[in-house]
Amino acid sequence: MPIRRILIANRGEIALRIHRAAHEMGIETVAVHSTADADAMHVRLADHAICIGPPAAAQSYLDVAAIISAAEIAGADAIHPGYGFLSENAKFAEIVEAHDIAWIGPKPEHIRTMGDKVEAKRTAGALGLPLVPGSDGAISDVAEARKLADEIGYPVIIKAASGGGGRGMKVCNSPDQLETLIKQAGNEAKAAFGDDTVYLEKYLGNPRHIEFQVFGDGEGNAIHLGERDCSLQRRHQKVLEEAPSPVLTPEDRERMGGIVSKAMSDMGYRGAGTIEFLWENGEFYFIEMNTRLQVEHPVTEAITGVDLVREQIRIAEGKALSVTQDELEFTGHAIECRINAEDPWTFAPSPGKVTTYHAAGGMHVRVDSGLYAGYSIPPYYDSMIAKLIVSGRTREGCIMRLKRALEEMVIEGVKTSIPLHEELLKQPDFISGDYSIKWLEEWLAERES
Ligand code: ADP
Repeated sequence: MPIRRILIANRGEIALRIHRAAHEMGIETVAVHSTADADAMHVRLADHAICIGPPAAAQSYLDVAAIISAAEIAGADAIHPGYGFLSENAKFAEIVEAHDIAWIGPKPEHIRTMGDKVEAKRTAGALGLPLVPGSDGAISDVAEARKLADEIGYPVIIKAASGGGGRGMKVCNSPDQLETLIKQAGNEAKAAFGDDTVYLEKYLGNPRHIEFQVFGDGEGNAIHLGERDCSLQRRHQKVLEEAPSPVLTPEDRERMGGIVSKAMSDMGYRGAGTIEFLWENGEFYFIEMNTRLQVEHPVTEAITGVDLVREQIRIAEGKALSVTQDELEFTGHAIECRINAEDPWTFAPSPGKVTTYHAAGGMHVRVDSGLYAGYSIPPYYDSMIAKLIVSGRTREGCIMRLKRALEEMVIEGVKTSIPLHEELLKQPDFISGDYSIKWLEEWLAERES
């Protein structure tokens, strides 16, 4: 069924991203927003706008009843959830579908399975994805956990089944800490996610974070769009992402891509998904799957030429994937910098009024942002205010272009992470591509001392 009007259940740059794809397809958009976002760019650009509540996300962007009512009032025939907020809420997806509104996302049962990390790991294993050695399901008994940890060797990591955003994880270095840390992890998980289920796996010493973009039509056809390297992280939050990964060969990509797309095809997966792996010494280890569009999706768009949001919408309309695996080509290199409204070195949030704004431009430079001069960044939400995505024929050329583009970006009135990115690009380890998930925090600590 062709979609005519999409309600965008999100805010910020991703709401704008979805609006743009929709308008390029001749589809109308409905923005729903909190009172704090009345002046947001995506609200101004959308064909219809409905205020759904006060600033607190629980009473606006997470308010299912308010969003469904808005969809009915505005006559929206589809909902795109973006990332974060309700995007991985299986119940919400079910409610949307029960209202005869197209859900621009995966099947609710797949969202549910992948949202529980123990279930996700079991499913991934059954689908033939390589796993981090660890417990077969949840840990129910300390003695059993001790035996397992002895077998796989310390350090081990205890993780919450319902965890997310890097929370609810404990690294355990020796047997005498195990019992305490299992209890602590369980208590923290209970408090944060209302579920104290934990599991255990080997803690990899110095891995990279490499994830594969996948797409399925829900009927058993699935493709992969290559990988993204997201190893530059602080507190498990990605800071800069690139595609392709500096460490994978075309053969690695083809082999692993083949494994993930076969898994998605066997699963009957629908829509966009990301399969995250840790990678160490040439081996991949599945950690989780995100059943949504990712923040860093533009680097994949840059090297494949495929508009991922357009693809999501097409699939929700019941159409086939617009490209086959054979038609897909990976060209050149792309890097994304996440620009946050925060102090570049202390990371203290810096909301407030943007007095001057000038976006970088030129060949192969893309800025995804809802900023404009005079806009007030509200303090209630995520601090990311812009994404700068640059591509080039080679990684080296891409880094040069990114430096130039960062120089051009002007955001005044608030502090931003632009100076962090500028420094980062000068580091020899970054330039050579020799970094793991530990690198950024170690560099920041060194810089401070
Ligand atoms: P979340 O859903 O909370 O983001 P993930 O399972 O994706 O949790 O893990 C987040 C990050 O934690 C990873 O990118 C990696 O940096 C670290 N991590 C997770 N599991 C392991 C492991 N077994 N060994 C080493 N680091 C890990």
